Amino acid sequence: MYITELEIDNFKSFGKKTKIPFFEGFTVVSGPNGSGKSNIIDSILFCLALSSARGLRAEKLTDLINLNTNKNTAEVSITFSDETKIRRRIKRTPHGYYSYNYINDRACKQGDVIEYLAKYGIKAEGYNVVMQGDITQITEMSDTERRKIIDEIAGVSEFDKKKEQSLNE
Ligand code: ATP
Ligand code: MG
Repeated sequence: MYITELEIDNFKSFGKKTKIPFFEGFTVVSGPNGSGKSNIIDSILFCLALSSARGLRAEKLTDLINLNTNKNTAEVSITFSDETKIRRRIKRTPHGYYSYNYINDRACKQGDVIEYLAKYGIKAEGYNVVMQGDITQITEMSDTERRKIIDEIAGVSEFDKKKEQSLNE
């Protein structure tokens, strides 16, 4: 499964609704410094609930809303090759903010999105997104720690957890 389209609306530097196509295999995004390349990755992490505000280089969630428009919402939607669509919107209000999650246009809880994506091996701890600095961290960690990452990606740790659970029952 891969992402076929990303739609960004009023998120970070994307004041105008922007559709970005992705292709099977390899897609490269290039552009000058500060043009919004990393914001594209941030929008994916935001939409798929793979990161906290800090991980998105924002102090709080509402900082993700574009500063140059007077709209109080930001929205990102991601379409996968099997036509599944994940969408997330945040709304700023005088009482704080609200976050809305959708799977195929049906409102759901953020936990439902996390659970849904985990079935496809897409997880916050799964290194689907390799951030700046991750590579250095991986090369510098111990063999055991590195093995844990490989087990997580390969899906082995899922079984290890279940095995341990059943042994404890
Ligand atoms: P580099 O090549 O330096 O890594 P980049 O293309 O990855 O650059 P980004 O980090 O994605 O650039 O974009 C940074 C820009 O996004 C900054 O100019 C910043 O002001 C802008 N930005 C971040 N949050 C918002 C926001 N809420 N509203 C408007 N602009 C924002
Ligand atoms: Mg960048």
